[in-house]
Amino acid sequence: MADQNADQNSYANADNPVPTTYSEARRNFSKALIALGIDESEARREAEIALMHVTKSAAHELLLKADSQLLPEQSEAMSEILSQRLLRKPLQYALGETYFMGFKFAVGPGVLIPRPDTEIMVEAILAEINQTPGLKERCNLIEVGAGSGAIVISLLKLCPNLIASVFEISPQAAHFCRINALCHGIYDRLNIIEEDYLTGLPKLTGQFQFDLFSSNPPYIPVDLARDLAPEILLHEPALALVGQGSDGLGFYRQFAQMLPSLPATAKAALLVELGQGQGQEVSAIFEQAGWQDLRLLPDLAGIDRVFAARTGDKII
Ligand code: GLN
Repeated sequence: MADQNADQNSYANADNPVPTTYSEARRNFSKALIALGIDESEARREAEIALMHVTKSAAHELLLKADSQLLPEQSEAMSEILSQRLLRKPLQYALGETYFMGFKFAVGPGVLIPRPDTEIMVEAILAEINQTPGLKERCNLIEVGAGSGAIVISLLKLCPNLIASVFEISPQAAHFCRINALCHGIYDRLNIIEEDYLTGLPKLTGQFQFDLFSSNPPYIPVDLARDLAPEILLHEPALALVGQGSDGLGFYRQFAQMLPSLPATAKAALLVELGQGQGQEVSAIFEQAGWQDLRLLPDLAGIDRVFAARTGDKII
């Protein structure tokens, strides 16, 4: 009898899988993650997302179907995702997708997984577009480091008169950005440039003026990078995470110096994401370079997450 019970709780035999209910599948998945040391609420959340993905169900359907059995191929898919998670691969890579601003984005190895905190950036840029006269009718945005395209594609979806150019130096990330732009039907308003912005941006701004500049640059100081969770450290691209210079603020210094010397629209606004505790230093960098209207915007945890400023009239 004891053996029979053990059998019912395993995914074991792929040729003759033991029937598993939705609630068992969910419990087995979260128990395995908790055993790996993952926080209980995170483990439960991941089990729910994995089961929703595999069974193509909405969250409430999981509850309604709690005692229904998974199809054999669904049980197999759950075990396959779990085996990747046990190697500490992020769930989003195992599923090949994630959600940002309510939109679905393809992700995989080589591209940074969009973080919920970054939605603050999108909201701040939307507010800028809606509150600045003329921008709702016509707006040119430049972004450095597009990654999966989560920020810029969300904006293009939400602002029909926005046109954007993005720099993305990583071919893998540019590939995901292109796929996402095509899937979301905004490819005709997005120019993806696979070049270092330091050489590419001066050429581009010689051709037209921009109204907004955005970036979620790598900002984690190199000394802190080794403390990142294994999912991030082992699997996500260091290029998108680890900032330049020992304080990780190299990109902000370059933006502060370089952008005002480019031909831009008068009073173009910059909005950039920040790491925890970087607000004051980043503000000081831009203030010293002559920028105006400096603002720090907090995320839901009260941490300064976005820095916003405008190029002054004089320095354009
Ligand atoms: N917020 C991300 C993290 O903490 C870092 C993103 C970035 O460096 N721009 O993992």
